[in-house]
Amino acid sequence: MAREILPVADQKQVRAYARRLTLKYPRQLALALTLHGLAAVSGLVVPWQLGALVEDVQYGRQVNVAVVAAAIGAFLLLQGALMRYAVLASARLGERVLAELREEFVARVLGLPLSTVERAGSGDLITRTSRDVDSLSRTVRLAVPETLIALVTFVITLGALLLVSPSLMLPMLIAVPVIYISTRWYLKRARDGYLRENAAYADMTEGLAETVEGARAVEALGLQARRRTRTDDDIRRSYSAERYTLGLRTLWFPAVELGYVIPVVATLLVGGLFYTNGWVQLSQVATGLLYAQQLIDPLDRFLMWIDELQVGGAAMARLLGVANVPDDRTTSSAAQPSGEALEASDVRYAYREGRDVLHGVSLTVQPGERLAMVGPSGAGKSTLGRLLAGIHGPRTGHVSVGGVPLVELPLDDLRGHVALVTQEHHVFKGTVRDNLLIARPDADDPAVLKALEAVDALDWVQGLPSGLDTEVGSGGLAVSPAQAQQLALARLVLADPHTLVLDEATSLIDPRAARHLERSLAAVLDGRTVIAIAHRLYTAHDADRVAVVEDGRISELGSHEELVAEGGSYAALWASWHGTPTSTHS
Ligand code: ADP
Repeated sequence: MAREILPVADQKQVRAYARRLTLKYPRQLALALTLHGLAAVSGLVVPWQLGALVEDVQYGRQVNVAVVAAAIGAFLLLQGALMRYAVLASARLGERVLAELREEFVARVLGLPLSTVERAGSGDLITRTSRDVDSLSRTVRLAVPETLIALVTFVITLGALLLVSPSLMLPMLIAVPVIYISTRWYLKRARDGYLRENAAYADMTEGLAETVEGARAVEALGLQARRRTRTDDDIRRSYSAERYTLGLRTLWFPAVELGYVIPVVATLLVGGLFYTNGWVQLSQVATGLLYAQQLIDPLDRFLMWIDELQVGGAAMARLLGVANVPDDRTTSSAAQPSGEALEASDVRYAYREGRDVLHGVSLTVQPGERLAMVGPSGAGKSTLGRLLAGIHGPRTGHVSVGGVPLVELPLDDLRGHVALVTQEHHVFKGTVRDNLLIARPDADDPAVLKALEAVDALDWVQGLPSGLDTEVGSGGLAVSPAQAQQLALARLVLADPHTLVLDEATSLIDPRAARHLERSLAAVLDGRTVIAIAHRLYTAHDADRVAVVEDGRISELGSHEELVAEGGSYAALWASWHGTPTSTHS
């Protein structure tokens, strides 16, 4: 893992949550457990009847084998039927809990502070939503019911054994330390062992993929021997990791098996001893022996699923951890912004603790003003842009609109004031209308069409097979990048923010579409306050004011003419750019 920014919940939280989840539907849970219990009880009848049979034979009583066989068959059928409904009930409960878990997780992810999502990147979140949800669903669907069933069956069978003959419980006790100690020993080492195995395997895959992808470079630089050594090392490490876990299993499995067999053998021995002393009946020994045998299956299943429960616990810790992200917004104040003046005062911000990238920036942007930010790469322009758009809250200082700090505005309100426009845009799966309504769910069709018209997109949208109802996004109609960008801009028109922060960082649009798009953009910008992070100096030239950002500070601030006259960094930048014949300046 390169960087883990999203937190992971601790054991206590996971346990509390699991408990709450288990007890959330007490009636369904009770039903499932009762059915499983009844199935287990009907499974107890057969050994008991066999015991009675043994006694009958022992005392030479008349036995009607057909009746006994029919009774045994009937109870087996009953057990099967009960089991069916029990499994159905627990599967229903599991699915229900799982659906809720998923919904809760999605709500949690959507509620994450923007700054955290920005910083964490999508990788970790995607892993959590896919792999962790998958392993948790396996746990909820299979591991939890299986262990519960195993536990219920085990306890009931043990109870039956107690009823048959308390003294026959003694042999069981021998198994307890064997199974307990060996399982503890195994579980303590297994987790790390399997983690190491997975990590070693990932290393190996990555190394091989790298070698294949970089085959030309490997050949050109004569790295063959080195790559081979690395692969050999990876294989060696993976091999030793696998050997380790295999070693664990080769000790644990036999120990546990021994733990299963000991009670059966001991019951036979102890039972025989007791019987010869006249302490127990032969029928009790027979039934007790069969019960001892019947204990093996639930116990075995229980132990098998413990591992899975741990995996599920780890997944749940990662899913719950998302909720541990501290909210960076305090949307409590009911204050209404008075006016649209955007003001940053003495703003500092750090991505990593102790390393500020903005060092006390103050800036006021008047409504309707066009401000361009220029400066060397890495100076902090994008960071300042994000702060001005309310995506990050400042570490110290304030960014406010009309006197109200951005972090105190509810997100929906905030987007009506300032929005960040980048060249990243996404077409969501759904209709064209759905894609626009994201920005303003209550907009009617005329408003949607007007927004499309404003960005010059009305023609092609109306030319689509079903107009606004055309499905776009993954699986739907593919729109061109320029069209996707127009949809994004139309969304902005609907959201109608007063101020736009424009990050031109990745100017990757198709030059043929560029002019067209610039017209659309100009229509969106018209009449709004615009803060443009300028990578082309003509944006600065056309702006009302230019802010030069250097080393996390605003070093120069004024109109293009003023700054050129001042003869500072901007003047130098302008001179070098303006004087270069290869510039794209038009
Ligand atoms: P500019 O937009 O002027 O190129 P940025 O605001 O992108 O500058 O970056 C300012 C500083 O913050 C740089 O040193 C950069 O490395 C750092 N930085 C930017 N984004 C992140 C991030 N997500 N995590 C950590 N550091 C970052």
